[in-house]
Amino acid sequence: MKIDVVTLFGPALDPLLSIGAVGRARARGLVELGFVNPRDFSRDKHRKVDDRPYGGGAGMILMAEPLAAAVKSVRKKSSRVVFLSPQGRRFAQADARRLAKLKHLILVCGRYEGVDERAAALFDEEISIGDYVLSGGEPAAAAVADAVLRLVPGVLEKAEAAERESFAEDGALDYPQYTRPRVWRGKKVPAALLSGNHEEIALWRRKAARAATRKKRPDLLKARDNALRV
Ligand code: SAM
Repeated sequence: MKIDVVTLFGPALDPLLSIGAVGRARARGLVELGFVNPRDFSRDKHRKVDDRPYGGGAGMILMAEPLAAAVKSVRKKSSRVVFLSPQGRRFAQADARRLAKLKHLILVCGRYEGVDERAAALFDEEISIGDYVLSGGEPAAAAVADAVLRLVPGVLEKAEAAERESFAEDGALDYPQYTRPRVWRGKKVPAALLSGNHEEIALWRRKAARAATRKKRPDLLKARDNALRV
């Protein structure tokens, strides 16, 4: 799989996606990440990509043409073009699973006060990483690229690692995990996990995952129950 990120700040984004499982997968050539700078497509002699908003108001707006040319330079028939935007649909694990099946994803980062509305025709969908406003699409692109790329088969060392995580198909959060020492500040590791009995461990984990979900994210269980009722 390849992800191309259309951004004014590729060098800032690259190191974050060069570490851990995604970094290793990139080094092995299993997944590819490219950065396309709209400034390289500016027709202005100062490589300007922004201008003042029509109708007045604060700040600058990213112009549509350098973005369109940047997208065109990497777009193929199989590409899906996603614009990172606070106005988009909220990104969730199901989207990461869906996008991880693609061959080529283009993530477009806005900046300044936003992007000329006419550029919307370039995008197949708009994704938000939450109901708050970032200064630019880069942190959102990093979050989406990381969540998607780690689901590409072979990226994580053990294939099952991603299946057992929070937001798996059953809607539950991950179960609590423990490591050494057996007692830390008077708190013991649950006995079932030390039993060596696989069935007992699996049962404890299922129950603990349900309890964690009820406590931290009861909305997930409600959403799952509603979906089952339909
Ligand atoms: N004026 C815009 C609005 O209120 O909808 C916000 C522009 S924001 C300062 C600049 C850029 O950051 C956006 O074009 C978008 O690409 C990115 N961005 C900001 N918040 C985001 C979020 N929650 N999810 C994804 N991208 C976001």
